[in-house]
Amino acid sequence: MTVQIHLVQLYPRQMNIYGDHGNVLTLRRQLEWRGFEPIVHDYNPGDRLPERVDIIIGGGGQDSGQSAVQTDLLDLRSQLSDLAEAETPMLMICGLYQMFGHRFDTVDGQSIDGIGLLDVTTVGQTERFIGNIVTQSSDFGRIIGYENHSGRTMLGPGSTPLGTVVSGAGNNGEDGTEGARSRNVLGSYLHGSLLPKNPALSAFLIDTALRNRGIDPSESSRADGSAVPSPSSAFETASTLAQRARTDAGNRPR
Ligand code: GLN
Repeated sequence: MTVQIHLVQLYPRQMNIYGDHGNVLTLRRQLEWRGFEPIVHDYNPGDRLPERVDIIIGGGGQDSGQSAVQTDLLDLRSQLSDLAEAETPMLMICGLYQMFGHRFDTVDGQSIDGIGLLDVTTVGQTERFIGNIVTQSSDFGRIIGYENHSGRTMLGPGSTPLGTVVSGAGNNGEDGTEGARSRNVLGSYLHGSLLPKNPALSAFLIDTALRNRGIDPSESSRADGSAVPSPSSAFETASTLAQRARTDAGNRPR
């Protein structure tokens, strides 16, 4: 029996811009190449989370989209908090990164409550931070992407920055930080899509999910005896392309 890995994408209609869906596609393919069966669940307002949740992905959105999903996300708070306590890996980009924090005060004076899984607070400003961005992370090496946000995010002591800005603005354009992490919950402003050109992050999400299931990631290609496809050529092609994408994107002007 092939092991099924359940991936939840939060609010794909409202919170999914600048290529964020590519994060889900990347995880799906990488799981397949490693011999697992990815089951992708789109979670929309009013839905129930599936019984098993191995990885949660969320994207960015307009302030209006964030406002539209606010009530539903607050209803999910305790379930998501339990999953975070259980070390479930999560990656939240931009709009949902802000909403996994305590609050986002928009530039129009609206206050959008978040669920506080990350110790961050965000305030919108009229000038948006827009452009290519490169950061350096102690856990994941160089992280490369594209940012477009009005929000300035400040970290509290309960979260550590995901990276340090090499070029671009990051969390707030002032303190040189980008993104946040608490437990295995990662938040970042980087769209692009992020995961296709940052394989260390997708490996972290998948390996953590496997460990949570009692599977040794180093043996993942043998997780399913006969049903495991040979991952080599597709996986290698993708790795080569990812390296090229990293180089190209990392050398782009702002
Ligand atoms: N609406 C939020 C902001 O402007 C998030 C934007 C985004 O997700 N790209 O800061």
